[in-house]
Amino acid sequence: MSKTYNIEEFDFTNVKKRNVIVIGSGPAGLTAGIYAARAGLEPLLIRGNEPGGQLVTTTDVENYPGWKGSGPELMMKMEEQCQEQGCELIYGTVKAVDFSKRPFKILAYPDKTFLADSVIIATGASARWLGLESEKKLQNKGISGCATCDGPMYRGENVCVVGGGDVALEDAMFLARFCPKVHLIHRRDKLRGSIAMQKKAMQKKNIVWEWNSVVEEFLGEEELEGVKVKDVKTGEFRTLDVKGAFLAIGHTPNTQMFKGQLDLNDHNYIIVKPNTTYTSVEGVFACGDVMDWVYRQAATSVGSGCKAAIDCERWLADQEN
Ligand SMILES: Cc1cc2nc3c(=O)[nH]c(=O)nc-3n(C[C@H](O)[C@H](O)[C@H](O)COP(=O)(O)OP(=O)(O)OC[C@H]3O[C@@H](n4cnc5c(N)ncnc54)[C@H](O)[C@@H]3O)c2cc1C
Repeated sequence: MSKTYNIEEFDFTNVKKRNVIVIGSGPAGLTAGIYAARAGLEPLLIRGNEPGGQLVTTTDVENYPGWKGSGPELMMKMEEQCQEQGCELIYGTVKAVDFSKRPFKILAYPDKTFLADSVIIATGASARWLGLESEKKLQNKGISGCATCDGPMYRGENVCVVGGGDVALEDAMFLARFCPKVHLIHRRDKLRGSIAMQKKAMQKKNIVWEWNSVVEEFLGEEELEGVKVKDVKTGEFRTLDVKGAFLAIGHTPNTQMFKGQLDLNDHNYIIVKPNTTYTSVEGVFACGDVMDWVYRQAATSVGSGCKAAIDCERWLADQEN
């Protein structure tokens, strides 16, 4: 069971207060760090347990403008640039925060304590996986958590999508534009997605509906060669001949430590004021996938990281007047 951290137990009396603390080192956090450093705010950035964020788990990034190469390499360059501009990066994972009054209190694992006039949250949203051994083995070798990102690499190949909500339907329709056959594997005989989206998807001739089905195993050693599927009603197995498999079974925003401190939506994403990165607490800003359940791309995260640092810098300036 995970430990509960009680912020009241920690001593903040001799802690140096920072202008701004950025939480998260994915594209959104590092961009916020770059902009905040260049604005002279001397930011501190807490990396979290996935330095570089989700992109470090992917080998090819082909849709980030000006970049053609691996995810880890791109994130290393962003981190270097962030440090060069004067942002202090540290290892640590935020376990508890107190946003009830300023300065804000932050407690990071294992025992680091911080005070800050403002905070930029960029903790992302983790893609959910099925948890199969064969899935781990073939991740980035045919199995992906992002159809928008990796789908075009499977042009002309048969693929499958796992899921039954709007994201799965969107992914299937996107892939159906350039893949001859898209199998949609869903554990029930009814979809969860919106009726409008279902109607659109049903019109696509090359989407093959695999109802009442679950993935038993991803097949292949070096790359995906097929998917073994089980019919949950009959218990029978069959194999789908696909080269790509896209998981669309949801994301979990990394917001556990902000519950009760910030307004979150029904799916635990941070709510921001329209067209800004302002959260429900003045002085706390959010950017990237942790507040964006629609686009979830490196380019959009970078854009909102930039907005968060600008919002934060202007807000801090207003406090001085
Ligand atoms: C397999 C895969 C492939 C992808 N490919 C592409 C692609 O080709 N192109 C594209 O545009 N997008 C791609 N994406 C999507 C893209 O990676 C995300 O949209 C983007 O990384 C989101 O950036 P972010 O900074 O908001 O969050 P993330 O990248 O998720 O970063 C979150 C950061 O927060 C930190 N963190 C989390 N919890 C805490 C905590 N408690 N304390 C401190 N820090 C914390 C983590 O350590 C991490 O550094 C892909 C995603 C996946 C999963």
